[in-house]
This record gives sequence, C-alpha cells and structure tokens, in this order.
Amino acid sequence: MDETLPVIVVGGGFAGVKTATQLGRKGIDVLLIDKNNYHQFQPLLYQVATAQIGVSEVARPFRAIFRRSNRVRVVTAEVTAIDPAGRSVTTSDGATYRARILVLAAGAVPNFFDTPGAEEFAHPLYSVIDAVSLGANLTSLLDHADKETAGDVNIVVIGGGPTGVETAGAIAENVKFVLPSYFSSGLAARCHVYLVDMVPTVLNAFSEKSQSYARKRLVKVGVRLQLGVGVTEVSADAVTLADGTVLPSRIVVWAGGLKAGAVLASSGLAHGRGGRIDVQPDLTARDFEGVYVLGDAANMTDTTGAHLPQLGSVAQQSGKWAARNIHADLTGGKREPFRYFDKGYMAMIGRGAAVAEIGRKRVQIQGPLAFAAWLGVHAALLSGGRQKIGALISWIEDFVSHERSQVIVGPPE
Ligand SMILES: Cc1cc2nc3c(=O)[nH]c(=O)nc-3n(C[C@H](O)[C@H](O)[C@H](O)COP(=O)(O)OP(=O)(O)OC[C@H]3O[C@@H](n4cnc5c(N)ncnc54)[C@H](O)[C@@H]3O)c2cc1C
Repeated sequence: MDETLPVIVVGGGFAGVKTATQLGRKGIDVLLIDKNNYHQFQPLLYQVATAQIGVSEVARPFRAIFRRSNRVRVVTAEVTAIDPAGRSVTTSDGATYRARILVLAAGAVPNFFDTPGAEEFAHPLYSVIDAVSLGANLTSLLDHADKETAGDVNIVVIGGGPTGVETAGAIAENVKFVLPSYFSSGLAARCHVYLVDMVPTVLNAFSEKSQSYARKRLVKVGVRLQLGVGVTEVSADAVTLADGTVLPSRIVVWAGGLKAGAVLASSGLAHGRGGRIDVQPDLTARDFEGVYVLGDAANMTDTTGAHLPQLGSVAQQSGKWAARNIHADLTGGKREPFRYFDKGYMAMIGRGAAVAEIGRKRVQIQGPLAFAAWLGVHAALLSGGRQKIGALISWIEDFVSHERSQVIVGPPE
C-alpha cells in the first residue's frame, strides 16, 4: 500500500453508489469496494422471494452503473478490517487501501437479538442471496407438501415492520391466488401464513389508521396475526412464543431488525443505538478526521436532533450530502450539517392494497392509490432502465393474471 487515494467508499448500496456517483461528477477519483459485483435493491427482495420479479430486476452490476464514469473504480472484495485512524481498509484477499477520505456505507445485517435458534433456522431477507434462498425453500416446500395428503403447512414471518408485512402479504397472496392453479386441490387449504410481532400492531412507525388498514388487509388475504407476543425460540420445525404457544412451522422468515455488520462493530468507531455508528451532524464519525459513515450503518439525526430511520431515501440523501462535504474537505471548503428532506414512507400489503404517509406532514393514503404510488416510487428508484422496464412488465403481468412463475434457482438448504 503505497498510494493514498482521494476517496474510498466501502459498500455500494443506496448510500455508497450515490456518494461515488456525485463525487465522480465533481471530478474526484473514487475507489468503491463491495463484496458483491452488483448493487442490490433491497425494497423489492421480498418480490424476488415470492416469484413476482426476477433477480436481474433487483441486482445491477456496478461496472454497468459506472460505465460512463472514468472517475469511479470498482473493486470486488469483502472488507475485513477498518483502521479509521489511518483511513485504510483491508480486504479478505489481504490487500490494504488507504485514502484521504474514508466513506463507510456497508449497510446492516439481521439482528436476531440472541433469540435461540433464530440465526440457524430462520431465513433473513436482506440480500439477493437471502431472497433467492428463501424463494427456493418456499418452492421446494410446496413441491414436497403437494405430495402429502394431510397436515398443516405453516410459514411463520417474524417481525411486523414493512419487510415482514410485505413478505407475509405476498406469501399469503401466493397461497390464496397462485397455489390453487399450480398445485393439487387441497394444498392451499393446508397452507397457513402467520405474522408474529411483540408489539400489539403491525407497521409500528405508521399512524393508527394505516396500522388498522394493514391489519384488516392482511387478515383478508389470509394472514394469521399473532401480535403483542415475542418469539422466545426458533427450531427446525416450530416457533415458540413468550406466552407458551408453539407454532409448528415449515419455514420461518426473520424480519425482526437490523444491526451494524461485524466489520463496523470491530472498527473502534463509537457505537450507539442498534449497534450502528454514531455520526456528527455533518455525517463524519466522532474522533476520527476524514471518516464518514452513511446509510443503514449510521445513527444519523436531522436538524432537530431526531434519529433518522433506516430507509432508502435516508441512505441516498446522506450519500449525496456526504459527497458535498467531501468536496468541501478536498477543496478547502466548509462542511455543512445534513438536512434530510422527509418524503414519508409506504408499505405494500398486496394486490391493490398499500399504505403511504407522504411528506413531513404525513398525508395518509391507502388502498389502490397508495398501491399505484408504491409501484411508481419503487420503479423510479430502481437503478437502470432495464430493471425499471422489467419490473413494470412483471407487475402488469402479475396484476392482470396472477401469474407468478419467475424461476427461482438455488439449492434449498
Ligand atoms: C427487505 C427490505 C425492504 C426494504 N424496503 C424499503 C422500502 O420500501 N423503502 C425504503 O425506503 N427502504 C426500504 N428498506 C431499507 C433500505 O433498503 C435501506 O435503508 C438501504 O438499502 C440502506 O442503504 P445502505 O447504502 O446504507 O446499505 P445497503 O443497501 O445495505 O448497502 C450496503 C452495501 O455494502 C456492501 N457490504 C456490506 N458489508 C461489506 C463488507 N464487509 N465489505 C464490502 N462490502 C460490504 C453490501 O454488499 C451492500 O452492497 C428495505 C430494506 C429491506 C432489507
């Protein structure tokens, strides 16, 4: 390691790609390091797992994203150590890279909260690999269950936030609308989807009106709600709840929370809520000059001091803002505190059913209008024209025909 690069960005999610793109446009050389050679679009992973859209819609190679930028160089490697004082990172192949500015945007990993058996037996849904694995296991389960003549086929989703609600709703829709025409008669009646959360509602961060709508729509599509009770154990064939209930389960999905990944946890940077790295208002880490932490990896606050949620729009905006501050660092300018433009949030429940709370004033819409808004926002956010068109075609086909036959290839575990 002789060379000191201007900027290294670790992680090419919403935050890292935005930072690198903006810096490239400002004529600043960037080295982007990601363990995958593709950017993944997490909000639609549940649709990959439930055969609504294909992998090529949610994953786009970095080299395609940056093909027109001669300022952004991409290295595919897992970062295994971070030295914030020396502003250097080491990758699993033993290489070390050093820069004047280090941007850490490595996202988060599932947080199983030390629940016995959860890490071993539950499926997380945080990467393309997770989504393909869950989809392959769901398909394999149905193929096996189709040969059986009796017995419940339970699928349990743990976590009633947007990820859990969207996943449970999509699996229940498959059971209700897709299974009857794809499998032998009787299988759908034996399949049950449970959604479990320790708080007594779903979509805890949303308004009571949105929560109530979501609960009703989930029940209508066939989801069995087990709310207000935590999970104490996950095993190969059951989920045990704090009230002693044992739910026999053939597949368990974990949508229960996130924490910072191991490489950030061991970096020596100050941790706060959720194991994430606390950052200053200008998005730099405390005590280490020239180190930025962005997106899901960071605990960021808005100008009022309120904590910002782990959302794609927060990650993207923090990436754009960091690029401005880095440009200031490198040109003798002044860093500015991050100002987040709150666009609100939304969650899909199923066909024609979604909730959206728009803007800082949280203007609430539900039903088909929110459903259309959700599709529009997510299509717009997808990286790449091919991905946007592919997703739109899949959604139209799905809406018109309930045809969910994306091939999911992957070895069932
Ligand atoms: C299932 C799901 C649904 C969601 N739905 C929505 C939604 O509808 N709307 C919304 O706004 N937000 C949604 N979110 C949240 C949103 O996707 C995240 O907030 C956003 O992706 C965070 O962006 P990021 O850049 O911080 O991290 P990520 O997007 O997680 O990117 C991190 C990158 O770092 C790389 N990386 C990690 N560790 C290493 C390492 N050691 N070495 C090298 N590279 C590494 C990863 O490969 C990845 O490319 C959802 C999240 C999930 C999981």
